[in-house]
Amino acid sequence: MTSNVIEFKSMTRPIAQFIRVDGAHGRFGDLYAAGRLPIDRAIFDASRISNQKEFVEALKHDGVEIVLDTEVAELAALAKYQTHVKKAPWAELTAEGVLDSSYFNDNQSQANIIRWIAKFAVQHHVDTVLSPTHFLGDRKFDKWLDIDLRSCIALRKALDSEGGSHIAIDYPIIHLHTALNRDDFRKDIIERIADLPIDNVWFRASGLGSEPKPQTAKQILASLYDFQQLKKPLIMDHTDGLMAQALLAFGGVSGIAHGIGERGTFNAASWHKIPQERDTNKPFGRTIYIPIPRLGRRLSKKELQVLASAKGGKKHLGCQDLCCQHGVSDMLTESRQHAAFQAIAPIQKMSKIPDFNRENYFIEQPLRQAEQLARNIKDLNPSKVDADNLGVKLESLKKRMTEHHSKIGKFSDALSLLHDERGAGGQRAIACSPRNLSLTNTKKRGG
Ligand SMILES: [Zn+2]
Repeated sequence: MTSNVIEFKSMTRPIAQFIRVDGAHGRFGDLYAAGRLPIDRAIFDASRISNQKEFVEALKHDGVEIVLDTEVAELAALAKYQTHVKKAPWAELTAEGVLDSSYFNDNQSQANIIRWIAKFAVQHHVDTVLSPTHFLGDRKFDKWLDIDLRSCIALRKALDSEGGSHIAIDYPIIHLHTALNRDDFRKDIIERIADLPIDNVWFRASGLGSEPKPQTAKQILASLYDFQQLKKPLIMDHTDGLMAQALLAFGGVSGIAHGIGERGTFNAASWHKIPQERDTNKPFGRTIYIPIPRLGRRLSKKELQVLASAKGGKKHLGCQDLCCQHGVSDMLTESRQHAAFQAIAPIQKMSKIPDFNRENYFIEQPLRQAEQLARNIKDLNPSKVDADNLGVKLESLKKRMTEHHSKIGKFSDALSLLHDERGAGGQRAIACSPRNLSLTNTKKRGG
């Protein structure tokens, strides 16, 4: 046993973590300037990057890789095209309505969009473009893959001729997680994308979720091991929580992508539906969720307040990390700073563990801690009056906490079994290389 361990210890390859900036560049910019957002890779939306130039330049100056998401997948979806994505430049091609296959089926029209994307990428000094791919589970159109493959090849040519030969292309496969688990689908897509001019392959797995689901995790890991025959780094997009950590620890992917407290899961099941009008009687504003350190899940502000008010609550729920000097009260008032730290720190910590020790590390440390903490939290007894005052249904909250505890236990058992099956030195995704041209070892930010 010892000889293997010594041999494996020598290899510690960094985990790639891509942070989706979304519309929060102002708050992100402040956190970044204060050294509270130690990132190496950032994703900007085509609909928003023009208003975020200052932040892009600040990141670029420090060697952070800038990735452009063209948002054509959302623009082709009935449920999505009227959201912020309609501000992506190429959305103006459609007066009203989705940017559907008709804009890509016609060679001239497709070439125009692709050239537009290439020029835009060069203009905005990005390092990488996510190839303009679509949701392959689209119920209205089942030929996206043919179109998307052509778009990818055309994009390489367009980037080269528009002065963007240094800009890399990554290829997102957007599909139901159950489809990714199908042998015939994988065989087909692996064959067809194998020779594309791309660096990394990304996945957006609709329905995967961030919850600790044992069977789902084992199945997607098996599929990801199969995708590794592409011999390219693999990135799981829209994932966080214990699911994301499991995929990384078990070498299914080389990296992950998500926002800060946003875009930690992906669900395209309703993309073909017309979105319902918002009920104007309901109060506006979204619920703010706060990650609970080491628990592997988030709670709403009010749920956190209720549980923290119980005897022993502050001890189990209060953040003791660098982001919060004053535990629960800082979690509530400095929730963005707390969320940023909690999103990045666990991945950075795992990144420092030698590759072949990561499975064991994940089971013995983050999962075990989460299991113990979940047990303590489910046993808290806050007063019903406090819960009622905050509008929190106590029974339902306690039930969810109990379920979370039980799920972690099963998740841990399943992964321990998988760890035994894989043995020492199991197959792992290859590491992702940094691509920012201004990145040098001396300039690279510490942390
Ligand atoms: Zn904190």
